[in-house]
Amino acid sequence: MALITYGENISSSLLSTFERNPIFRNVAYFSLEIGISHDLPTYSGGLGILAGDILKSAADLGVPMVAVTLLYRKGYFRQELTPEGQQVERPVEWEPEKLMNKLDNRVTIVLEGRTVQVRAWGYTYMGHSGYPLPIYFLDTDIDANAPSDRSLTWELYGGDNRYRLCQEMILGIAGLRLLRDLGYNNIQTFHLNEGHAGFISLELTRELGYEDFDKVRDDVIFTTHTPVAAGHDYFPYDLITTVIDESNTSTLRRMLGGSGVSMTDLGLKFSRYVNAVSKKHADVSRKMFGTDNVDFITNGVHSTTWTCPGFARLYDRFIPAWRNDPSRLIQAFQLPEEDIWKAHQAAKMRLFARVLEETGVEFDADILTIGFARRAATYKRADLLFTDVKRLLDVGSGQVQFIFAGKAHPHDIPAKGIIKRIIDLSKEIGEVLPIVFLENYNMELAQVLTAGVDVWLNTPIRPREASGTSGMKCVHNGVINFSVLDGWWIEGWIEDTTGWSIGPISQEAELIEYDETQDAIDLYNKLEDKVIPTYYNDRKKWIWMMKSTIALNASYFNTHRVVKEYCEKAYGTIFRGH
Ligand SMILES: *Cc1c(COP(=O)(O)O)cnc(C)c1O
Repeated sequence: MALITYGENISSSLLSTFERNPIFRNVAYFSLEIGISHDLPTYSGGLGILAGDILKSAADLGVPMVAVTLLYRKGYFRQELTPEGQQVERPVEWEPEKLMNKLDNRVTIVLEGRTVQVRAWGYTYMGHSGYPLPIYFLDTDIDANAPSDRSLTWELYGGDNRYRLCQEMILGIAGLRLLRDLGYNNIQTFHLNEGHAGFISLELTRELGYEDFDKVRDDVIFTTHTPVAAGHDYFPYDLITTVIDESNTSTLRRMLGGSGVSMTDLGLKFSRYVNAVSKKHADVSRKMFGTDNVDFITNGVHSTTWTCPGFARLYDRFIPAWRNDPSRLIQAFQLPEEDIWKAHQAAKMRLFARVLEETGVEFDADILTIGFARRAATYKRADLLFTDVKRLLDVGSGQVQFIFAGKAHPHDIPAKGIIKRIIDLSKEIGEVLPIVFLENYNMELAQVLTAGVDVWLNTPIRPREASGTSGMKCVHNGVINFSVLDGWWIEGWIEDTTGWSIGPISQEAELIEYDETQDAIDLYNKLEDKVIPTYYNDRKKWIWMMKSTIALNASYFNTHRVVKEYCEKAYGTIFRGH
């Protein structure tokens, strides 16, 4: 992977790359989590990995961009599972010193009346064509700070609402001050990846003398990711006044009114452009926020990160331009059937070696294998498959094997219960229907899983999946999606061609409510009538579907297309193209 770190002496040349292009509108991308690779544990799941994938494509395409996030010295957590299926959270050991460059720059921010010093670690992602994209990781773990302040940048999604408010103040306010201190004075677009970074508009307001709200709006764009009202950060003024100084608090009151600060409101009201991350998500967001002013740019994934070595070699041979122009994957129909199958079976065997090593269970590479891995949030319904175990056994015994993975948030007791239920069931029915649960889902395991299974299952409760991205990783490896029609899949799905749907077709009327019990019934029926027979009886059709998946989905659901759309619709910038 093209990763380099740099010394302080080179950072000034990076800056000049950024500033040298007056025709570009320079972009600063702010995200509470960024996932670049699994050895940088500064992400928890889809949001952070999407941020990383966008930055990688921006670097590949030469878009002038800089990114800011927090350091998280304790990472998210490493998941261990006891033999009884209980999740145990272990701290992640990692040494930023080894991967990043500690910068001398210091900025300050006042939190709870104390002056907190903030520094940053620099990390540069090198695009395919050698264009460097700097990422700054903010860190308060400095001798000069009080112990409780030093821990403010330790944990991702740890702590309470106060802790979160402090982190978001650090991201938005200290983050912008840090960029200014480094010399970034020529930024025309601040991109808020989710509302978490909304306090940027507060700091921009201060920079502009507290008057020019229109100018603030002109500099900010906002991407929302959460189609559930309860998922949006909200800080009541009772809390705000204990954490944030008086002048900033009164500015917030002038900006928003109301009885507290909704970070989504801050994003919606103080940006020139707002987008959701799929068409359906835009429909839901418009209803939820009561405004038509929400565009959509459907997510993607970074193609070369998520294509397994076997398929990458195949594409290199037949579609050489794919690496920096994944839209070329539209030519996948030309790939030889035999080569596709060999590349797929190689990825499957690599996954099965891992399954054997970690669980002692031996999987058969000639058996249809279905994968399900994502954060174990209850709305993702990892256990929908087990709604009617008898029916599942009738349909699948001896024909299907399942691989699960996913972390539950440490406070999410119901999600932990789902993990335990799957592990319990694997013991009960494993003899006839093999099921394994792999520990510690992270980017590395995701790469192996999204390439090595035959079918990728996704069964969220509609309309909670804003987009979803793991299915897009699969399509780069010819793995076929079998999913509830929500998020990106509504746009990528062609029945019997790119994959299969589960449950009713999406309609305006069921944006919020629908009969969820239908989904499990439909899942069993389709598994029985379509997925299993096609896999065993019509290999030619199966491989044609793999090709369709690559040609019609991977060519589109990639972050190169996403970044180009942001440039056209949101950034008002142009990319260099190579
Ligand atoms: C891709 C990815 C996700 C996001 O998957 P969704 O299908 O969008 O939920 C979460 N965690 C890891 C480790 C991933 O690689």
